[in-house]
Amino acid sequence: MQIGFIGLGNMGGPMAANLAKAGHVVRGYDMAAPMPEGVAAAASAAEAAAGADVVITMLPNGAILRAVADQVIPAMPQGSVLCDCSTVDVESARAVAEQAQAAGLGALDAPVSGGVGGATAGTLTFMVGGSDAAFATVQPLFAVMGQKAVHCGAAGAGQAAKICNNMILGVTMIATCEAFALADKLGLDRARMFDVVSTSSGYSWTMNAYCPAPGVGPKSPADNSYKPGFAAELMLKDLRLSQQAAEAADADTPMGQLAADLYRRFVEDEDGKGMDFSAMLPRFEKRGRG
Ligand code: NAD
Repeated sequence: MQIGFIGLGNMGGPMAANLAKAGHVVRGYDMAAPMPEGVAAAASAAEAAAGADVVITMLPNGAILRAVADQVIPAMPQGSVLCDCSTVDVESARAVAEQAQAAGLGALDAPVSGGVGGATAGTLTFMVGGSDAAFATVQPLFAVMGQKAVHCGAAGAGQAAKICNNMILGVTMIATCEAFALADKLGLDRARMFDVVSTSSGYSWTMNAYCPAPGVGPKSPADNSYKPGFAAELMLKDLRLSQQAAEAADADTPMGQLAADLYRRFVEDEDGKGMDFSAMLPRFEKRGRG
């Protein structure tokens, strides 16, 4: 297939490289990032999109996605598919899908889980919103970039799945970190705490696969001075998206709101910016009940 790829940063770069490695013709555009191996440089987003069967975007937020969509949609051939893999608000995802459909294009929102490691290894999980036909067109590309693609429903359903997942992730990371800090103060050895909880009813991905305590459990950013990994500010972005969606849908999400407030304080008022989101543990360690 001929692919236009816009946004070649930490995630988009290796995703585009994997598509090129699999034999697809990839033309890329990014304002700043270098071209990955095998990807031909286009002079603009519109040039990357011209003649493409599928245009993939991997951009920082919904406002930038909307601006890029305005440039690429008029350049795309009728019947081609615009597939956004960024994490953005549900409203932007739906607005861009409507704009693409009105121009005779297919559209998918297909945010990912798996981080830079998954993007590089081609083992991402895609959660996808949009039509069956557009999903079928892009499926072979999902199979190159990832290990699983779940068609969640109509436009916006992929972003809905992503922000619900990441709301659970943020809440669970905080719960895991505060439990370790409490265990410390109760004199409980961290390795024993991990041994018990990871095989008891408190187990979770944050405890078992991404343990926030250094030297405990499998290797994680905690073992690398809390360098990201998944940065606290990205966690904050996703929690804000979840609360924006909850507001719009009139859903009661008190734990998600509290997690968003805690990550906001951590990133903006404390020393969390640039740290992995699991660095909540040293934050709690330092604190008493206040
Ligand atoms: P990044 O900042 O490394 O990459 C974004 C790229 O977009 C940058 O290279 C930037 O130059 C480019 N860009 C910005 N505006 C542009 C424009 N108008 N035209 C062309 N290029 C433009 O970010 P990332 O880590 O690759 O994340 C991308 C998306 O993936 C985000 O929405 C993020 O939330 C999501 N995501 C990231 C991770 C992760 O672990 N990094 C995991 C899952 C999802």
